[in-house]
Amino acid sequence: MADGLLIVGASQAGVQLAVSLRALGYTEPITLLGEENHRPYQRPALSKEFLQGAITKESLIFRSQAYWDEHRITVVKNERIIRIDKQPDGSRTARSRSGREFAFGRLALTIGARARRLPLEGADLPGVLYLRNADDALELRARAQSASDVVVVGGGFIGIEAAASLHKMGKHVTLVEAGPRLIGRAVGAETSEFLLKYHAAQGIDILLGSQIKRIIAKGDAVRGVDADGWLIPADILLIGVGVVPNTELAESIGLDCDNGIRVDEYAVATDGFTVAVGDCANLPNPVPGAPAGDRVRFESVNNAIEHAKVAAYAITGRPEEYVGIPWFWSNQGELKLQIVGLSAGHDRTLVRRDDDAGIFSVLYYRGDNVIAADCVNTPLDFIAVKVALAMGAAIPYGAAADPATPLKSITVEP
Ligand code: NAP
Repeated sequence: MADGLLIVGASQAGVQLAVSLRALGYTEPITLLGEENHRPYQRPALSKEFLQGAITKESLIFRSQAYWDEHRITVVKNERIIRIDKQPDGSRTARSRSGREFAFGRLALTIGARARRLPLEGADLPGVLYLRNADDALELRARAQSASDVVVVGGGFIGIEAAASLHKMGKHVTLVEAGPRLIGRAVGAETSEFLLKYHAAQGIDILLGSQIKRIIAKGDAVRGVDADGWLIPADILLIGVGVVPNTELAESIGLDCDNGIRVDEYAVATDGFTVAVGDCANLPNPVPGAPAGDRVRFESVNNAIEHAKVAAYAITGRPEEYVGIPWFWSNQGELKLQIVGLSAGHDRTLVRRDDDAGIFSVLYYRGDNVIAADCVNTPLDFIAVKVALAMGAAIPYGAAADPATPLKSITVEP
């Protein structure tokens, strides 16, 4: 039986898993295999600095070839695994689209998620774009050179970040969001309202509660859209309406999947052999005190990193349960939104706002306990809540109401 680990998906999670394994002293061969024809790279800048042309592709690359060589990690790009077989002797092999075979002793799936497609007539026109990977960003950047009007569908992270970037690049941007508010899945109503006012004041036209009914085209060129009867000119239609976890490969080898590949608290899938990490994994909620049986799937860099570390411990035979407070960030033009904790289940909010001092944060409480915060350009509040949640400390609701009072100064350690 072959030795070594095959990591399918050269993503943030895949890279971290390989790096963590070597840090833990794992000596077996590691193959880190990715579908894209790029060396493993970081995605967060794709909708921001990279799209705006402010940084190069080279600056997104995770590690030098020298690092991979020195740590005996074989990086394979431009290969998609389409099939995994178990032989009668127990050995296992993964086969790629190009026909290559990769024998392995242990399997990690860090295969992420893909952009959800909008089923619209004309959605295959060249000017209808998604933004999930570097090639998507390169195409959007190239097409934006000659575009003047862009319609962005979806007011989530991708939609807003890209809209802010394209606006900064001098495009006229209209953002069409189906729900009643921006980033409705990740932030509360007060934060959505704050972001709406900010982006509208910058000059982005924002339609809430609206859907694209039709793409208007001339030949194979996008000319505009019909959004609930509003005809909006567009040279580019950028769609960012969420992602779908990639589970097909996992399902093909019999792993339980349900909004992601189901794993236990050690990142191990239902066969007790494969680990699944990052955006593709459905895992027990790692927040201390979360309701028993509660499961989550995160789409964040922080989770990809922390979850990969947990998987590395499992693979090296020293399982450590995944426990942690999730956090996220989103740069939108001049705004830096930082989110910590999970606000689901809160029963009251506290808004700390001082426009002159540039403070805006929303704290979420369940009873007397702060459980999450959204902070806009207010990193001290973000750090204070992050530290308090990690320590199990209290931030009294009444004392936190004054935005001039540093949260750190009123934090009560357990
Ligand atoms: P997202 O954050 O889930 O947002 C998708 C948005 O599109 C939601 O507001 C959704 O509204 C809306 N929507 C859905 N169907 C629509 C329709 N037919 N018309 C108009 N709006 C529609 O997903 P995303 O923005 O596409 O981002 C994709 C992934 O990249 C996510 O994993 C995200 O976390 C990740 N990402 C993260 C960051 C960051 O953390 N800073 C930045 C970029 C991307 P409903 O909620 O009402 O369905």
